Amino acid sequence: MQNPRQNNFINMPGNGIAIAARGVAKTYSGPRGSAPKQALKDFNLDIPVGTVFGLLGPNGAGKSTFINIMAGTVIKSAGKVRVWETDIDENPRQARANIGIVPQELNIDAYFTPRETLEMQAGLFGVPSSERRTDEILEAVGLTEQAHSYARRLSGGMRRRLLVAKAMVHSPPILVLDEPTAGVDVALRQRLWDNIRSLNKAGVTIVLTTHYLEEAEALCDDIAILNHGQLVANKSKAALMAGARAKEVRLTLVGGTPDDLPAALAVLGARPAEGGIAVRYDPSASSVGAIISAVTAAGLEISDVTTDEPDLEEVFLEMTGGTV
Ligand code: ADP
Ligand code: MG
Repeated sequence: MQNPRQNNFINMPGNGIAIAARGVAKTYSGPRGSAPKQALKDFNLDIPVGTVFGLLGPNGAGKSTFINIMAGTVIKSAGKVRVWETDIDENPRQARANIGIVPQELNIDAYFTPRETLEMQAGLFGVPSSERRTDEILEAVGLTEQAHSYARRLSGGMRRRLLVAKAMVHSPPILVLDEPTAGVDVALRQRLWDNIRSLNKAGVTIVLTTHYLEEAEALCDDIAILNHGQLVANKSKAALMAGARAKEVRLTLVGGTPDDLPAALAVLGARPAEGGIAVRYDPSASSVGAIISAVTAAGLEISDVTTDEPDLEEVFLEMTGGTV
């Protein structure tokens, strides 16, 4: 999708940072009688301009809390947030103009059509009629045919895309999507991914949270992992995967999987695998070469070696110690 204002976003951040959070904390007061819940603690983050940034974390980690703070629907307890160099407390109106947010909940006004929804949103943001791109945006999210249907007739996937469209009407330089493909089927997910990629190509900085690690792996340049309200990782996706503790090597053996693993290999953590053995190892302490030497020294003949790069899911589980 074209973003006509992409080249003249006012005050392109001189520091290259689209969103900055410093010392952000949020404590929700619990229901009467229950303990308050600290959803974010001393949360610090810089999101670079131009990236597709993934904010990951288990359920309840505080992802939506941070996004809702940026959206102005949750009031933080402490700290500073700057959106496109605008402090959200000092100039909330400008901060909101700098960002488009697709919330996690599918809150759509059922009695308006997609076209009306976008027109109203444009009005809300003071986009003059001559600059409105309603039809272009509907086309980009694949809702042209539904432009005049009541929103209550839209499927879950269509509603999600309507929310993306709604967040884009004021051509913000940053688009934030909270669980954009939750409950969306595989085909629609691909379509949303394409939308996200083309918006990013057009110059929009993208921030997304997701439960689907394959989604982060497919889309994100940079990834931060949040656990219990604090960042436990913040790196490029490549650096995150490269730094994973565990890697795995699979060795196909001429004699197939041995009936009894030689003790020297059992010590290395070798286990039976199809046609041979597999060994998980810590790349900072061992290497494929050392494992191959040990296997050969144990009298086994290797016919093939494959290494398995850790996937994001393994990294995620290492960092959070939890479940996806
Ligand atoms: P995530 O989006 O990562 O799943 P949330 O930001 O929604 O996490 O929630 C973080 C924590 O704050 C959770 O423990 C959640 O139960 C709690 N929480 C979220 N919203 C509220 C609220 N309005 N009142 C009280 N607690 C809340
Ligand atoms: Mg959430």
